[in-house]
Amino acid sequence: MSVIIPTSVSESDSTPRSMPRSPANKVNFFDLPRAGLDAFFADLGEKSFRSTQVLKWIHHFAVDEFDAMTNISRSLREQLNSLAYINTPEVVEHQVSRDGTQKWLIRLDNNNCVETVFIPEAGRGTLCVSSQIGCALNCSFCATGKQGFNRNLSVSEIIAQLWVANRELGRDPKGERIISNIVMMGMGEPLLNFENVVKAMDIMTDDFAYNISKRRITLSTAGVVPAMDRLKEQGDVCLAVSLHAPNDTLRNELVPLNNKYPIAQLLDACSRFVEGKPKGRDLVTFEYILLEGVNDSIKQAHQLARLLRRVPSKINLIPFNPFPGSPYHRPRQQRIDQFRDVLTKAGYVTITRKPRGDDIDAACGQLAGKVLDKTKRRLSQVSYVQQSSVQKMGVHGNKPCNA
Ligand code: SAH
Repeated sequence: MSVIIPTSVSESDSTPRSMPRSPANKVNFFDLPRAGLDAFFADLGEKSFRSTQVLKWIHHFAVDEFDAMTNISRSLREQLNSLAYINTPEVVEHQVSRDGTQKWLIRLDNNNCVETVFIPEAGRGTLCVSSQIGCALNCSFCATGKQGFNRNLSVSEIIAQLWVANRELGRDPKGERIISNIVMMGMGEPLLNFENVVKAMDIMTDDFAYNISKRRITLSTAGVVPAMDRLKEQGDVCLAVSLHAPNDTLRNELVPLNNKYPIAQLLDACSRFVEGKPKGRDLVTFEYILLEGVNDSIKQAHQLARLLRRVPSKINLIPFNPFPGSPYHRPRQQRIDQFRDVLTKAGYVTITRKPRGDDIDAACGQLAGKVLDKTKRRLSQVSYVQQSSVQKMGVHGNKPCNA
């Protein structure tokens, strides 16, 4: 099976002239991490503390107008108004699950929306962020993949998700930010949008923006091996690897990217990722979706335990979350527990992920947003997913984007 790997959007350097600009030729401040803002202000002959001020206003206080930035002089505010803008997104829909999970549908352009999900848990609040519109990898069990692929998200479109959720959630009674953790596990393959994801992470971790430590950011990948090596250079970001099968024959079927980067190469990349890092075991988690009768046998659990022996890691079991037209089923609880017990007895820290927000289609793999598919995958897959289901998926738990 062939895998279409989109080229990453062209990388802009950090000088103002090459910054992403709107049609009115203004720089979008949502696109700029500190280094970009420093370069912008240096070009104006301003000191770098201006970057701190602006980062705080935009990301800390969710201010989206320069005129409201009262510690910046009137003349500089006027200059900012003529050269830059803050492109805040439109929230098309906001849903709250009975378990407290929240989902926002955010408009990106006339044809595309993206979903972002907040999951509250004891002692932490996790935001699940998308990195692409749709996904090119076409994993057989994933609703996003079935929608096809449109394009990479820009830095501003990735950050917009955090900005919206942070503005709406605010702070707890102690004044602490409600969002403490980020998982890049929404729509898309983050390592195929490497440059923008890394710049967005710079904004997430900046003390004067969202101040989230790298250890609290987890990037989930289907296994883009060369980009995993590049990610290691970015410091202690946690890696979640979507393994889902204990051998290449089955993984080729479930995760077509495996044809390009088979399991042996993937595990080598995981070993390199933790090499020389003190708490290596906490850095890599293997994700294993449980599909009844496909990858959930006790024999496969033992195979998995043998396979992962050489990589210090934890295991997350994800009981399959169904979506219309999918041929798979979630195994019974007893089988999920038996599978987990094999791994626990083999010495792995193994957690079974609880489906969260499934009443609002916010659980893993259920995010479908609203995507204008450039790969025309939906048309070519009518034999796999019945046409009626495909049509339903187009507005999967959402209002159409152009409603
Ligand atoms: N492309 C990345 C991130 C997106 S998917 C990756 O493959 O890791 C995030 C996680 O949700 C992955 O582990 C993915 O395999 C899992 N997932 C996808 N569809 C699912 C479904 N229907 N039920 C449960 N988990 C699913």
